[in-house]
Amino acid sequence: MKLALLRCLQTEEVCSGRHCLEFIDNREGSLADREEEIEFVALSTCGGCPGKTVKESVENMVEAGVDTIIFSSCIKLGTPIGYVCPHVDKLKAKIKEVEQSLEIIDWTHQETFNQIIWHRIKSFNLGNFLNRGMSI
Ligand code: SF4
Repeated sequence: MKLALLRCLQTEEVCSGRHCLEFIDNREGSLADREEEIEFVALSTCGGCPGKTVKESVENMVEAGVDTIIFSSCIKLGTPIGYVCPHVDKLKAKIKEVEQSLEIIDWTHQETFNQIIWHRIKSFNLGNFLNRGMSI
């Protein structure tokens, strides 16, 4: 799949997106069961409530060959600011208006920050640590 991450503009002000990007890079969370090759090619936001520039963002993603859009966890699960997007159905409809065949994945990771730290400790791998460090 050619994957793009769509983020909440409100959350972007307080979140670097590092956990979403890490879960994509590690094929964890909602991508854990996917067997196909995953190429991460684009990243954008909705443009602010109620998805002001989502169509323009998605058009740009489609031009880049994107066939799957993954929502950052802030949109549907409300992490980390505890605010679930009230416009998620509108966002999905606008995405489908651009390209009906796009697959939409609802979230990247379900864990809170503390759960992510615990998950990293539990799955600690010395080889990976020596190669890349243990990012949390
Ligand atoms: S439309 Fe949803 S995802 Fe976009 S800024 Fe508003 S709350 Fe966030």
